[in-house]
Amino acid sequence: MPINVRNSHEKINLEELLVQNLSLSPYSSINTGGKADLAAYPTDFEELRALLAYANSQGLPITVLGGMTNSLISDQGIEGLTILTTHLARRHVQGEMFCVRTGLSLDRTIDFALEAGLSGLELLGGIPGSVGGAIYGNAGANGMAIGDLLYYVDYMTFDGKLHRKQTHNDEFSYRCSPFTGLKDIIIYEAGFRLNPTLHTSEARKIKDEVKHKRKEKGYYENPSLGSIFANPPGNYAGKLLESCSLRGKSVGGAMVSNRHCNFIINSNGKATSHDVHALLSLMQKEVFQKTGVQLRPEIQLIGRW
Ligand SMILES: Cc1cc2nc3c(=O)[nH]c(=O)nc-3n(C[C@H](O)[C@H](O)[C@H](O)COP(=O)(O)OP(=O)(O)OC[C@H]3O[C@@H](n4cnc5c(N)ncnc54)[C@H](O)[C@@H]3O)c2cc1C
Repeated sequence: MPINVRNSHEKINLEELLVQNLSLSPYSSINTGGKADLAAYPTDFEELRALLAYANSQGLPITVLGGMTNSLISDQGIEGLTILTTHLARRHVQGEMFCVRTGLSLDRTIDFALEAGLSGLELLGGIPGSVGGAIYGNAGANGMAIGDLLYYVDYMTFDGKLHRKQTHNDEFSYRCSPFTGLKDIIIYEAGFRLNPTLHTSEARKIKDEVKHKRKEKGYYENPSLGSIFANPPGNYAGKLLESCSLRGKSVGGAMVSNRHCNFIINSNGKATSHDVHALLSLMQKEVFQKTGVQLRPEIQLIGRW
């Protein structure tokens, strides 16, 4: 596809920013999926705006991805322009507010906040992926979720306009934020209201401990997307899957983890996204037939499904 660079997009050289046929599987945490027809890693507001203007002028659909730790990317790839946020990673402190661009990893955000003497996010230590992805799905662990400490979110609509949303706790629920399901915005920056802390050693200890527990539980041993299904009300997806004898079940290279029934792993490095999806459907069907519970996938299907 020829790249049509027009002078109207400020002084930004889109040809330098755009990559054609970028293979995404090395970047996805489960190492599956096809190519992005066109991809870009904007580093600032102006580049992001120029990319959106370019995609709009060409009639290209736009997809936004952060760390790709919760996204199952189709083997057939992603149509149009894929915006990868991981180079949008600046942060600054404003009083008790820690302000961070969307592409910074959540884990590093917690470290940077602690370095600035601000605590509160420690229990989320070790959750992979970006701040933007975490806000999109209200990522959580250990009894808290990212929405709990969020004060504002700046997001860009695909017409290039920036909006500020003051957030409220009651707009967030289990793995659900006001942005979940929206396909026409990019979360650009977030502000967290944190606790000024003179001695952050205790908070650091908590973060190290929760991260260490994740390691001990084998969360990072194999390529995966973390939990495949959300816990149904009053129950645990893992428990239900276990009770249906799904531990170790496989389709192609995709396998239900022996350590966590709610994780699908790329067991031999050769799984396809199709394998993962087929196994997910099988798990869902088995649980429904045996228990009557309809499990809801926690992961996002991205691209040409
Ligand atoms: C080993 C492992 C453990 C995990 N443990 C947990 C856990 O304990 N708790 C938990 O909640 N999750 C967990 N996860 C899932 C995942 O880490 C989180 O959901 C994470 O927050 C996703 O962030 P991401 O940047 O990778 O999102 P991506 O996978 O890149 O994107 C996820 C969704 O968000 C959208 N999106 C991403 N960035 C933006 C943006 N800037 N603007 C608009 N939309 C955007 C994408 O379009 C997509 O729909 C785990 C995953 C793994 C692999």
